[in-house]
Amino acid sequence: MLDQLNTAQREAVSAPRQNLLILAGAGSGKTRVLIHRIAWLIQTQAVSPLEILAVTFTNKAASEMKTRAQNILNHPIQNMWIGTFHGIANRLLRTHYREAGLKQNFEILDQTDQIRVIKQLFPDEKETPNNTELRDIANQFNRWKDQGLRSKHIDTLGNSPGYYHRLYEQYETLCNKESLVDFAELLLRAHELWLNNQGILDRYRERFRHILVDEFQDTNDVQFAWLKILAGQENYVFAVGDDDQSIYSWRGAQVSNMYKFQQTFENVRTVSLERNYRSTENILNAANSVIKHNKARLGKSLWTESNEGDKIRVVAMINEFAEAQFVAEECYRWIRYEIYRPADIAILYRNNWQARVLEQEFNQVGLPYRIHGGLRFFERAEIRFALSYLRLFQDPQADIAFLRVVNVPPRGVGQTAMDRILELSKGQNLSMWDAAAIAKDNQQVLPKAKRSLNTFSHYISNFNQRRDNLTLRQLATAAVYDSGLFEYYGKDKGETGRSRQENLKELVLAAEQFEQSHKDRLSVENPNATKEEACALTAFLDLVALDSREQQGSDTEAINLMTVHAGKGLEFPCVVMVGMEEGLFPHHASSFSVASVEEERRLAYVGITRAMKQLTMTFANSRTSFGKSLALQGHSRFLNEISKDHCIHLTYKDDTLVPRFSTKSPPIRTSEPAASEEVNHHKHERVQHSMFGDGVVVAEQGDGASRKLQVKFSNGKTSWFLADTDFLTFINH
Ligand code: ATP
Ligand code: MG
Repeated sequence: MLDQLNTAQREAVSAPRQNLLILAGAGSGKTRVLIHRIAWLIQTQAVSPLEILAVTFTNKAASEMKTRAQNILNHPIQNMWIGTFHGIANRLLRTHYREAGLKQNFEILDQTDQIRVIKQLFPDEKETPNNTELRDIANQFNRWKDQGLRSKHIDTLGNSPGYYHRLYEQYETLCNKESLVDFAELLLRAHELWLNNQGILDRYRERFRHILVDEFQDTNDVQFAWLKILAGQENYVFAVGDDDQSIYSWRGAQVSNMYKFQQTFENVRTVSLERNYRSTENILNAANSVIKHNKARLGKSLWTESNEGDKIRVVAMINEFAEAQFVAEECYRWIRYEIYRPADIAILYRNNWQARVLEQEFNQVGLPYRIHGGLRFFERAEIRFALSYLRLFQDPQADIAFLRVVNVPPRGVGQTAMDRILELSKGQNLSMWDAAAIAKDNQQVLPKAKRSLNTFSHYISNFNQRRDNLTLRQLATAAVYDSGLFEYYGKDKGETGRSRQENLKELVLAAEQFEQSHKDRLSVENPNATKEEACALTAFLDLVALDSREQQGSDTEAINLMTVHAGKGLEFPCVVMVGMEEGLFPHHASSFSVASVEEERRLAYVGITRAMKQLTMTFANSRTSFGKSLALQGHSRFLNEISKDHCIHLTYKDDTLVPRFSTKSPPIRTSEPAASEEVNHHKHERVQHSMFGDGVVVAEQGDGASRKLQVKFSNGKTSWFLADTDFLTFINH
């Protein structure tokens, strides 16, 4: 096992039982060391997987970690707790809901739900703050929670509580009453579970002898405190991190936790790793030359034995459309000529909204892609409605779900009826569900609304009572079809209606697949699961809520589109960083303080160090966002910081890449211009597209490598594709 490691890595993996801090740069094998440590403890130290708790940053990283440890050991690991801080906190709270002061089926609020709940604090619509203000309020609440502060802990310095503080108090009361748990609350409450229940804490302390934490630089105060108290005096923490990759201070992460670890945990041994195994010399040196501009650093050096590799291409564009076109063409070329597989490629951007133009272009060319983060499947409106029905099947008293769907699809529960329900619920301290039951007999409520409320409550009660006897697939089917949602979207004959129906069908499929894998997982990981733990519906709703922090599973062959934040810890042979513009990256909101610019620079460092073999960075001279032109101030300062020895500057103009600072040089690469005459070799032939399904060729254009086909799909959608894309197959051939 130790043969596959260098000396420093070996030292860390096989260190005797004590607290360890691995402080090392990107790609130096920190995660690899952590995984080997798990295997080493199990194999050579007779540590039971039961005694190990491994924490990482995303669910994807957690499952990868487990698979890799199993591969080293050559057998499955059962009963090991491995997951994200949020996932683990959720598991604890579900098990000890009573002690945590929660209802058994408490509801996890994602970011949108949280805003919705905050909105409820303003009964008078005229006083409701706008969305930006609501988000500010939510951020402040989350910051307090990240610091471990309840409203009663906030120091008012002798004054009466301020506006946010008062709202925070009301928010706490509301969430407590309804058992609502936002993301920050998961962590804080799990910490309070330790603090207030010595018995439970002792049980877990006796169990988790070894606690391993990846990406330690991004832990916040509550997470640190949670680890500290769980470790106690007897257990060992193995923490790995890189101060240069701390990119979540806006979510309360404290890079100082790295030093604090050395000071507050006993007898800490620190190991540093200096050899980078991931990237070519040019990429590593570029990353080093950027990060060295930061003042606040612990300071580390990284070297590599890899070859020099290609220089980094820095490419100038006219606007975001040219940028997207360039990226799509490059991806097409890489895949077509088998230089890289789709999954080898990552396109990284600073903001989620930058994905839209890229997506459009990728669809056009027929490139398979997957968006990590951003507007995902489970966040789409129609899916959220269907999930709310599922949530009501689980617990009809769930107010947020009730409010979301009581009149979706529209069933005649008008404003008067809603006002009565809200009034009753407030006045008599009832859930919306109970209030609706009373409102049905109210004089002011119109007969139509009464009838609708009746049907609605029968429908929900019916599935609520039968939920334990139905499969998750059956419940999802009920949520999609019996609710009337599917039919409702069918009335919209356009593109949107159809795609919403497709998504709803997809949800039923997702529920079915989830149920199967949930069963499989339980039989291996937790054969003695309690009924609550085994409940597929709760597990599914939890997954959806937690997953909205990252991305849905499925590892099919697809190009990876994600924010730089979401790329943390991952590596790809080929990386494109788009939108390298001053004002965008560094983000304009960050350019006012040195500390924020330094965080942006660490983010750039994270982005660059994701690349193994090839890195391209692009910037546009003009760009729009949400219909408005952005005030960009030229290319990003981070591009200037890359030493000239490691990059070449190019311009993408008229589909051609030319050296940026010379007008005489010949083009480096030309994609053949599309011929204008029509050719009809394939017209009317039936084709199958790997993502969009069956279709018919309706038009053709161009010749050679740029020959394009226009395909009309059975769902009515029409798109152009390059003729020899691997994603189209001719059915007749
Ligand atoms: P990051 O800071 O980005 O999270 P990291 O320090 O966790 O990076 P890893 O992802 O563990 O680094 O390793 C980077 C790459 O180097 C991986 O592909 C890993 O398999 C490889 N690697 C690390 N150590 C060795 C080694 N001793 N021999 C061969 N390959 C190695
Ligand atoms: Mg790592």
